[in-house]
Amino acid sequence: MFLKHIFQLQCWMVCVCCLLDLSIGAAYSQTIDTIQYTPADSVTDVDTTASESVLPTGNDDSVLNRCWTPTQLQSTAKERVIHLQKPADHSPPQGNSDVDLDNTQNRAFSTAIAARSIRSVIPAHGEKIIALTFDLCEQADEIAGYDGAIVDLLRAEKVNATFYAGGKWMRSHPERTLQLMADPLFEVGNHAWTHGNLRVLRGVELTAQILWPQIQYQQLKEQLNSRSCAASIPDSIPDQPTTFRFPYGTCDAVALQEVAAAGLYPVQWDIVTGDPSKKQTAQHIIDTVLKQIHPGAIIIAHGNGRGWHTHEALKTLIPALKKQGYQFVTVTTLLQSGKHVTTANCYETKPNDNLRYDKLFGRGTE
Ligand SMILES: [Zn+2]
Repeated sequence: MFLKHIFQLQCWMVCVCCLLDLSIGAAYSQTIDTIQYTPADSVTDVDTTASESVLPTGNDDSVLNRCWTPTQLQSTAKERVIHLQKPADHSPPQGNSDVDLDNTQNRAFSTAIAARSIRSVIPAHGEKIIALTFDLCEQADEIAGYDGAIVDLLRAEKVNATFYAGGKWMRSHPERTLQLMADPLFEVGNHAWTHGNLRVLRGVELTAQILWPQIQYQQLKEQLNSRSCAASIPDSIPDQPTTFRFPYGTCDAVALQEVAAAGLYPVQWDIVTGDPSKKQTAQHIIDTVLKQIHPGAIIIAHGNGRGWHTHEALKTLIPALKKQGYQFVTVTTLLQSGKHVTTANCYETKPNDNLRYDKLFGRGTE
């Protein structure tokens, strides 16, 4: 817990630094490159009406509304609480303890994905589209929370978003994970198994952090498909997450290669809310986002009970951004909408600003 408090402080400090140093962009611009999204249709016209075309939650005939009542979807305050878990749980997804991580056949090897960290996108036609992302981190020694007030707000405002769920978080929150998967507004990305530091972990430990969440997601989706409420409805839920977010925002060439080879796009951010800091305020989050917002931005916040004033800030931010003409899309949609702004390394707001995390957190998953 002590380390986590330090982490919160570090996040806060980095965020403040990024606001103060307006010359940062010029300083590291040389390290940024852009690549073209592979599918041929990636730079064609974007359906900017996508977010508005989604039927309102509660009124459509989707899996979400067939399988859960509005009351069941509604969050409760106690779910936001984070609980310690002793002893720490490093076990794999249930029923898959025999998965051979050395067996390369378990990996959907992809050569189409560049082993580079995606920080934002340049929309092909300058569309004012942005991606809100919420990390659902869960370490081996905790059961993290579900900050459902955020989800309820996004549903009420019909805002698309991406949730980067740890595989262990999915396992400890199966019903909430299924609801996020089944909601046409949302997508669930991969946030490693137990929030390991993938710049430090190697071999099968690195591979497990990346592949076990894929297995957990698939298991849950199969559970949903087997329910009678989901029968006879066309299945539009992706079979697997297609994007990955590195815990602590740390990576290196080996980790990037491993994620890309697993068929996952490594996705970071270029706007940091700094919400893990208890000293963060809603107004500061609002000011930070509104000052830095641009077409193709990827915003990071937390939805696991570790984000402070996130919901409060969003109540102002969402209408303010809509008023400016911005439309919210999932990360997957954003990636299909233009050129990716990528870097060879992962960092918080400027190159090398998170190197200290290796000493601070080590393997990140004890
Ligand atoms: Zn995380």
